[in-house]
Amino acid sequence: MTEHPVAMAIHGGAGPLKGFDYAREVAHMRGLIEAGRDRLAAGATAMDVVVETVAALEASGYYVSGRGASPNTAGRYELDASLMDGATGHAGAVAALVGFKSPIAAARKVMETTPHVMLAGDGAAAFAASHNLEAIDDPAAWFTPAWRGTHPDALSTGTVGCVVLDHTGALAAGTSTGGVFDKLPGRVGDTPIPGAGVWADARVAVSCTGAGEMFIRAAVASQIACRLRFTRQTLAEATDGALADVAHIGGEGGLIALTAAGEIVMPYNSHGMKRAALFPDGRIVSAVFDD
Ligand code: ASP
Repeated sequence: MTEHPVAMAIHGGAGPLKGFDYAREVAHMRGLIEAGRDRLAAGATAMDVVVETVAALEASGYYVSGRGASPNTAGRYELDASLMDGATGHAGAVAALVGFKSPIAAARKVMETTPHVMLAGDGAAAFAASHNLEAIDDPAAWFTPAWRGTHPDALSTGTVGCVVLDHTGALAAGTSTGGVFDKLPGRVGDTPIPGAGVWADARVAVSCTGAGEMFIRAAVASQIACRLRFTRQTLAEATDGALADVAHIGGEGGLIALTAAGEIVMPYNSHGMKRAALFPDGRIVSAVFDD
């Protein structure tokens, strides 16, 4: 079997607050990249590393995802997550999931144990319970909103995501979010939608963050895959083109993208994006604002 160089990237959301100190998140993301590197060196699959890394991002409470999620206008925490396996084309997702600690774990169960791609709302919760996924007993004690005390503007954002290339050359992608601030009950953004907030095929893995409505309308993740498949665009041209479409309809955000050759880009049109990467040569970066 050919050994491919491994690589990975993560994000912790576009649209960080100006003037806020994100040293904690930068160190946390670097630690997760180092842990992912060690798992990949030990032979872990791209899908395993995506799920483990997104679960750790969710559990930290440092991002607007999992434990750090923000409630909707009814005070409920409805969470979205998705996964895609570039080797098989399989995908799994949950939308508006209430009452469970790890939406990405639920998305993986949907992918691996059902003929479906996405379960939503009460059905997603019943499904998670039937698989004994970890429930939230006391939401007031569990959620430690990452945004607490920061006075976010309505529609400010923060999602987590991960893309991985493993030693077999397989790609995988995952994204998980609490959605946007002040969202209406039942609102679902791009995060759980393959082709919008997540994508992985044999060429590229993508995870998005930003104004989800515009990312859906611009089909961001799938248009990047199509640009790479059907045109001669470079990865940077493809991702910049997709983000330009988002900007054209008034959206802000960013994404991480990784090709089967190990090329990584992490563009954003917001004033920053929490992000970190392991490049095929072993170099690690972790940053929030422009270098
Ligand atoms: N894209 C996410 C959503 O619209 C939010 C985010 O990335 O911060 O739900």
